[in-house]
Amino acid sequence: MSDAPDVGELRPPDRTLMGPGPSDVHPRVLRAMSTPLVGHLDPSFIEIMNEVQELMRYTFRTDNQWTIPVSGTGSASMEAAIGNLVEPGDTMLVPTNGYFGGRMASMAERAGGEVVTVDAPWGEPLEPAAVEEAISDTQPDVFGFVHAETSTGVLQPDVPELTEIAHDHDAIVVADCVTSLGGIELRVDEWGIDAAYAGPQKCLSCPPGASPLTLNDRAMEKVLSREEAPRSWYLDLSLLEGYWGEDRSYHHTAPITNVYAIREALRLVAEEGIEERWDRHRAVAGALKTGVEAMGLEMNPDDEYWLPSLNAVRVPDGVEDDAVIEHLLEEYDLEIAGGLGDLSGDVWRIGCMGHSARPKNVSFLLVALGNALTAQGADVDVDAGLAAASAALGN
Ligand SMILES: *Cc1c(COP(=O)(O)O)cnc(C)c1O
Repeated sequence: MSDAPDVGELRPPDRTLMGPGPSDVHPRVLRAMSTPLVGHLDPSFIEIMNEVQELMRYTFRTDNQWTIPVSGTGSASMEAAIGNLVEPGDTMLVPTNGYFGGRMASMAERAGGEVVTVDAPWGEPLEPAAVEEAISDTQPDVFGFVHAETSTGVLQPDVPELTEIAHDHDAIVVADCVTSLGGIELRVDEWGIDAAYAGPQKCLSCPPGASPLTLNDRAMEKVLSREEAPRSWYLDLSLLEGYWGEDRSYHHTAPITNVYAIREALRLVAEEGIEERWDRHRAVAGALKTGVEAMGLEMNPDDEYWLPSLNAVRVPDGVEDDAVIEHLLEEYDLEIAGGLGDLSGDVWRIGCMGHSARPKNVSFLLVALGNALTAQGADVDVDAGLAAASAALGN
């Protein structure tokens, strides 16, 4: 056997995270994560669980009893929703206008479901008329859509209209709110969403590990009356009910530290006020968008569908998207990301989420991006960008 590896103390670089997630974590959340562990059935932890559920309902704008953090990343809460709601033989309607609709399809297929699609190009939202037509044609049991498509920077408008169409045809509505929860207006009950899932590391600015999920009675009834158990034991909501419901009995060991973290992250949401938080994301990301445009760059989506938490900026002709990303990381310790799927190489994805959505990050990003572009020979006006962003912020 080889000798013990000589690995030094952990010293990650001090980055500013403005990609598609994770976002910068608030220092209070990091402090909560360094507090002592208790057992997952400790009476004090049961109290913490109740508080997390209460804070999560507030953030989702829901009274749903069945509101929990799922152990795992956003994909775990996503698979918990889809894997429990889709039974073998069920039909699920999913969108084709971004990367995460494709992931919905993969999960529905693995659950034994039949997948049908409602189409829109990458970079555009779903049209209610197209949803109406697809639902009438395919009569799905479940209709999934992505509220904030992180791959394209598009916000899905008309949510109440979409849920009404689905309900007129008795479909259960599942919303991907990973990049909207805690940053973009989202009203689960008022908008008629039956099941919504999210992630902690986007607009909640919490490390990944415990992911919000909420289901109303209608959705939970479908889950609890399944003929066949879901294919995942770990994510079986009828079993998880034993732990997060009345009994508080063992199913799996909750990721205690991640539950502490999301409790603190949600407490920050409650302190700020959910609507004030939505306003802050719009204001700060709005200044970023104004600055980027004044600098001479273009946003990919139409202004109408602009998603404040994820800004998809077009890569100018003749510029290497990767070289700019690398320059920002190396020279500025600043993380942004490139495009995915159909938009690969065409856009940069600049996140403005949670604790990263602060005015000081706007000017930092504009200067850094401007310099990276200039180094690539692009013709941008950084001063104009800074002035416009500053004016937008009211300075
Ligand atoms: C990030 C993301 C997910 C997946 O979350 P992970 O935490 O990466 O598992 C799902 N949907 C959307 C819209 C996302 O942005």
